[in-house]
Amino acid sequence: MIIVYTGNGKGKTTAAIGLAIRALGHNQKVCIIQFLKSTKFETGEYKFLKSSKIEIYPMGAGFSWKGKPENHRDFLSKAWNLTKEKFKADYDLIVLDEINNVFNIKNFKTDDIISLNDLIDLISNASFNVVLTGREAKPELIQIADLVTEMKFIKHPYQKGVLATKAIEY
Ligand code: ATP
Ligand code: MG
Repeated sequence: MIIVYTGNGKGKTTAAIGLAIRALGHNQKVCIIQFLKSTKFETGEYKFLKSSKIEIYPMGAGFSWKGKPENHRDFLSKAWNLTKEKFKADYDLIVLDEINNVFNIKNFKTDDIISLNDLIDLISNASFNVVLTGREAKPELIQIADLVTEMKFIKHPYQKGVLATKAIEY
């Protein structure tokens, strides 16, 4: 199955991690590759999962586009190479966290590293479950997916000026 968690409300990455844990409970082999997310900033899920049977690879330079585009492009290229490698192995579930956002980057060129067609080819030939997360999933991805859920923004503490809260946002 191809599963997409998208939308501007909170809960996409945590839903994907919930599914990863569910799969692990059935002794399935799970890999999570995190696009854009940086290793320099350890989230609660990374701190826990890095020593679990679930493989997790934060492969980004961070969400902010500070710094050189080439640096971001380097990370993107490494993340995509790892993804292609992992798709050749015998996983039951691969989560590509924040991948939808890659196709919405306007600050630098990305389609020479990973095009939407590259991703569609890869995931439509997979013989295991794949989860894609991130805002504004492309219609082409929604179309080939088996399950799509949109997290809808209703309220967020950010509106009250509350900054990202430990154990809630990261
Ligand atoms: P989570 O990782 O908690 O499951 P998510 O994957 O759905 O959330 P993303 O869209 O990846 O969330 O956004 C990353 C972070 O930005 C989240 O921690 C989320 O709480 C936060 N966020 C979501 N909406 C807003 C907003 N309107 N303003 C600021 N920050 C937000
Ligand atoms: Mg997320």
